[in-house]
Amino acid sequence: MLFKEIRTLRADEIECRIGQISKDGKGLSLLLYKDARCDMNILDETFGPMNWQRHHSRDNANCIISVWDDEKKQWIEKEDTGTESNMEAAKGLASSSMKRAGTNWGIGRELYTAPFIWVAAEKCNITNGRCYDGFDVTLIEYDECRRISALVIVNERTGEVAYRFYKAAQNAKKRTQKKDELQSASQSISESAYRCNDCGNVLVWAKAKDGTNMSPTMISEYSLDRYGKTLCPSCIKKMEAAKRKSA
Ligand SMILES: [Zn+2]
Repeated sequence: MLFKEIRTLRADEIECRIGQISKDGKGLSLLLYKDARCDMNILDETFGPMNWQRHHSRDNANCIISVWDDEKKQWIEKEDTGTESNMEAAKGLASSSMKRAGTNWGIGRELYTAPFIWVAAEKCNITNGRCYDGFDVTLIEYDECRRISALVIVNERTGEVAYRFYKAAQNAKKRTQKKDELQSASQSISESAYRCNDCGNVLVWAKAKDGTNMSPTMISEYSLDRYGKTLCPSCIKKMEAAKRKSA
């Protein structure tokens, strides 16, 4: 099968669920999950609706997702087990095993790189050790290794940001990359440019006395020819003036 990259999840395809509420009521932790439809959507998108199928066994406890490999002319299967959820047991088990099988295909695997998500009590409503606020991922970004590099979560009840994460290392890396780019850019300019051997200025286009536009190369050749070195127009003038004086 031609390798087809499974894309990373968008913010709207990710669900937040409360992991734990701290005993002292000072905050809670959140966990990220993919929602039930995104496995099917991404399988459709990546392989085409006609090229994948799922079946369940062991009363929905297991799910097999098969993808058609047109080169090998066979189905490639990946299977996993679900865990019973509190919701409608059978349906919950089917979607849970589907999600896990989807993860085997790489769908939403990047969620395992999530940071520890802590929401302080000021940003949510914890009463008697419970919290009924909903949380929404509004921004997610990944680095080149598909690791989460930025994450913003909003409390649906208040509409305010409950959690924000930016990977500092990534920003630092971007900064050094930029610096390196600038450095090599300025280096290549100075290497390719002609410099005046007397004053050190970089030669730029200039107009000669007769009105012709002289490129740095032409100016350099002109001065090399007459004075044996690369000179800028003003240093050439100085040389000419000195020559006239001595003559
Ligand atoms: Zn000069």
